[in-house]
Order: sequence, then C-alpha cells, then structure tokens
Amino acid sequence: MAAAREGPHGSVNVPATHRRLDLLDAPAGALEALLAELDPRPYRLQQVRHWLLRRLATGPEEMSDLPKPLRAALAERTVVSQPTVVEEQRAADGTVKVALAYADGAVVEAVAMPGEGRTTLCLSSQTGCAVGCTFCVTGALGAGRNLSGGEIFAQYRTLVRREGLLGSPLNVVFMGMGEPLLNPAGVGAALEFLAETVSPKRITVSTSGILPGLAWLAQLPRRPNLAVSLNATTQAQRAALMPTAARWPMEALLEALRRFPLERGRRITVEYVLIGGINDTLADAARLPRLLAGIPVKVNLIPFNADATYLPHLEAPSEAQVDAFAGVLAAARLNVTVRWSRGREISGACGQLRGRRAPAPAAPGIVRLHGA
Ligand code: SAH
Ligand code: SF4
Repeated sequence: MAAAREGPHGSVNVPATHRRLDLLDAPAGALEALLAELDPRPYRLQQVRHWLLRRLATGPEEMSDLPKPLRAALAERTVVSQPTVVEEQRAADGTVKVALAYADGAVVEAVAMPGEGRTTLCLSSQTGCAVGCTFCVTGALGAGRNLSGGEIFAQYRTLVRREGLLGSPLNVVFMGMGEPLLNPAGVGAALEFLAETVSPKRITVSTSGILPGLAWLAQLPRRPNLAVSLNATTQAQRAALMPTAARWPMEALLEALRRFPLERGRRITVEYVLIGGINDTLADAARLPRLLAGIPVKVNLIPFNADATYLPHLEAPSEAQVDAFAGVLAAARLNVTVRWSRGREISGACGQLRGRRAPAPAAPGIVRLHGA
C-alpha cells in the first residue's frame, strides 16, 4: 500500500512498509506500539530510551545490548534523524561552533564553550527569528521555522559526540538562533530528552519576553533556569530595539518576573546587550536597579558583538563604558557579570549566531572544515 506524504520536496509516494519511524520525533505511543509488535518484553522500551537519550545513539545499529534480530528490525523500521555538519569553526579559546543542516536544507548553529570543569552547550530553537531585534543577526535573517524536539536534541547529541563530552559536566543554554518561547512544543520535548542527562539547574532558556511563553515555562514540573533579554531601561527604548516589546510591554514583563516561581537559591538572569551610545549610558545604568528591585536577579551584561554585514548601523561599547556601567550596578548591590563573547573571532559564539555561512575567509586560529 502506498501513502502520499508531504516531504520537503513536495508530495511523494512512500510505501507504508518503507516509512521509518523517527525515534526522537515519533507520535506519542508509536515506539511503544512498534516494540509491542517486535518484542513485547517490557524492558525493551527502557533499553531503547537509554540508548537514545543517555548513550546518544544515532541509530538502532548502535544499541548493542538488544538482540540482533530486534536491532535489525528496528534498523529497518526506524531512524534517528541526524543533521549534517556543514561547517565547523574552532576558536583559540576552545570554543567550537558547528553549522548543522537538516533534511529540508535549513541550517542552524550550535556551540560548545569549554569552561572550568564544565562545558556550556548553546542550542538553537528555530532556524531564524521572527522577533526581529535590531541588534541581532538571527533577527536580521527573519523568521525561520520551529525545530522539533528531536532536531534540537540532535544539536546536543552532535556536540557531545564530536567533542567527546559523554558523561562530562555540562550546562545547556537555549541562547542560539531563535526565540525558544515561540516554540514551546519543540523546546518542551527537547527539555524532556535533556532531563535524562542534565539537571534542570544546569539548563537555561533565554527569552526576549514572550509572556504566554513565560506562563508555559513557569508551570513545567522540571523548570530550567530563566534568562530574560531586557536590553533597555525604558519601554520606548526597548520597543525600538525589540519589536516584541511593543506587544508585551516592559512593565508587564517585569511583573511576570516578579511572579515567576523560583526554586530556592535560583535567580533569574537578566541579559542586557550593551550597544555603544544607545543603551549603555550611565543614566540607563542608574535606572536598571530600580526596575529590578524586588526580583531575585543576576545581571549579565553582554557587550554588543558588532557585525559589519548584518548590523552595520550599530557599534560595540568601549571597555571603559562597560566597566562604568557594571560599576553603577555593582554599587547598587546588583549581582553583575560581563559576558565578553567567547570565541569572538568566530563571529560571536552564542547569541549572535547566523544561519548563513559567512563568505569571509577564515581568520588565523580557526579551522574550517567543509562537508565534515
Ligand atoms: N531569543 C532569545 C535567545 C537567543 S538570543 C533571546 O533573545 O533571549 C541570546 C542572547 O543574545 C540574547 O540575550 C540577545 O539579546 C543576545 N544577542 C543577540 N544579538 C547580539 C549581539 N549582536 N551581540 C551581543 N548579544 C546579542
Ligand atoms: Fe530573536 Fe533573540 Fe535575536 Fe531577538 S535577540 S531576534 S528574540 S534571537
């Protein structure tokens, strides 16, 4: 029997027996039903899940403790979709950025940043971003599509396997391409997959302030950390930088942060991209502590990562201005850190990711691999 299926290249006829179940993007109950048919022993499902989520297998062939006939049957009937690494860049500080192409040709980036005793992985949730912040390369690319849970998890799997990080202490941040809270289905599924190996304390979802999305995040049983990109100290300035702020005003966002449920010892990260001459004045710095009063926060100042191609209208702040801004916050007893971009020479390791590969030649200290 042949069934019509909409593929990325239009409608194709695929015989039902040849349609393979995508193990990490299968409809609820589909894997259970398949295993019930192939091998009804109750622990088989656990074994398969263990391989997929803990051992990060890329297919049933790797599931070496399953009986061979079951492995063969699963290999025939299922697949673990795996994006292709189309580019890899390594910075001198150990930061690695990979560009991954999915089956439909969409390309996203994911980054691994080694730190003291713990590597941070930065994942993308969408293939572009409809929010369109004026200072963001992903925003300049325009709206993309949502990534599925399996597609997001594939970024994690790819980085962990390539960098030999299985079993190593990790942080995972949703600070790559896209607005995670405009993709709760994909991000929610990815969070469930990640929950097998990474504590929610070690996961952070960063948002531009999508209020319905915040309500969704607040009710998750295994809530990750929340980071909010504030980036301004007045509603007018924020709406000019972040179109989403017109829809969900800053006052309503701050109110939602006041109400956001926090586990003991946790704080909300407030991200603030410092753009030279725009939102980096000392008047801004003086307003920020008042805005954040009563909210358990840590402030993360991110000096704007300039980009001559996509963001020629904006400039990075001077180091002196960053220090002065941070100083005002610290004097007001705010917990403040400055995030100088990691892997700067690979054009912003995280938070300034681009979906198109740069045509510029590689700078010294960077290895570019094509078609790896
Ligand atoms: N959409 C989400 C997560 C992805 S952006 C969000 O906006 O929070 C992750 C972080 O990168 C955000 O704090 C964003 O403000 C920051 N960012 C975007 N473009 C940047 C740039 N050019 N330089 C520095 N930080 C940037
Ligand atoms: Fe989208 Fe975040 Fe970039 Fe704004 S900063 S355009 S929300 S990815």
